[in-house]
Amino acid sequence: MAIPCAPAMVVGTRRLTPHMIRISFEAVGDWRWHVDGRGDERIDIAIPRPGATQAELDVFNLPEYGRGWVGEEPPWRHYTVRAVHDGGRRIDIDFVVHEGGIASSWAERAEPGHVIGVFGADDRHTSSYYGAPADAGFQLLVADATGLPGLGRILEGLQAGSRAVAIIEVPDEADIQELQSPADVSYVWRTGTGNGNAPSVLAAEVEKITAPDEPWYAWVACEAATSRAIRRDLRTRLGLARDRHHAIGYWTHNQSGDRPADVGE
Ligand SMILES: Cc1cc2nc3c(=O)[nH]c(=O)nc-3n(C[C@H](O)[C@H](O)[C@H](O)COP(=O)(O)OP(=O)(O)OC[C@H]3O[C@@H](n4cnc5c(N)ncnc54)[C@H](O)[C@@H]3O)c2cc1C
Repeated sequence: MAIPCAPAMVVGTRRLTPHMIRISFEAVGDWRWHVDGRGDERIDIAIPRPGATQAELDVFNLPEYGRGWVGEEPPWRHYTVRAVHDGGRRIDIDFVVHEGGIASSWAERAEPGHVIGVFGADDRHTSSYYGAPADAGFQLLVADATGLPGLGRILEGLQAGSRAVAIIEVPDEADIQELQSPADVSYVWRTGTGNGNAPSVLAAEVEKITAPDEPWYAWVACEAATSRAIRRDLRTRLGLARDRHHAIGYWTHNQSGDRPADVGE
């Protein structure tokens, strides 16, 4: 039977680039990741505390745990499923390495055998945001390093023959990744800005975009203030309808933790 927060064990870690670590997890027990099929598939995970190798799952599996819980809560964070293998038995998550985060510093010391908790592992409800209408021949995809795992997976799922512009801001030139897509994609990589190190230039890059002559869609995932600025630009200057864009705040500058994503409905 599914439990609210199921254990998953680290089976491999790989530093993809200086500020991105890919960790592969295997389900402990008979639960399987449900796979909602969307590129920015969200996963909420419980993380080992500093110095620990196992996340504390007991609190999350108490019957009284949930909305309104006032007891002590072990650390947990939002992430993206970058890839699913073996029918959901194994998943990959890409962790951004940044200053001063519980999840980020755990990712740097993670080793095979460490255990995290996966919330709602096989309850099949979707908690993703990406939703391009079928007629969108053009897509604008914008991300900082935290949005890059979702953006990479979205690109892999685009239709051949469609067009996209991907604007991506990463800490260093060495953090640029080679991404795959069947679509016709133009890439704008910005390095050294945003990502908690310097002001972001993502909003300024989006301001250079003009609306195409065909139905289109935009997906944005980055620091919350930047995502709000881009959302305003999409809605006002570019006149994009609410059902034709999703601009999501993935983290908030100088704010730690497990707050819900800012999706600006
Ligand atoms: C739907 C969704 C999907 C996400 N997917 C991913 C993903 O696939 N990979 C990923 O790495 N992150 C992802 N994130 C973002 C991630 O949840 C946050 O970055 C989270 O704050 C990291 O937790 P932490 O414990 O490392 O840092 P926290 O303890 O939360 O924060 C500590 C300090 O670090 C700052 N901080 C947090 N994140 C960053 C950052 N990326 N760069 C610079 N400073 C930062 C905070 O402002 C705070 O001052 C996602 C968020 C959402 C809402």
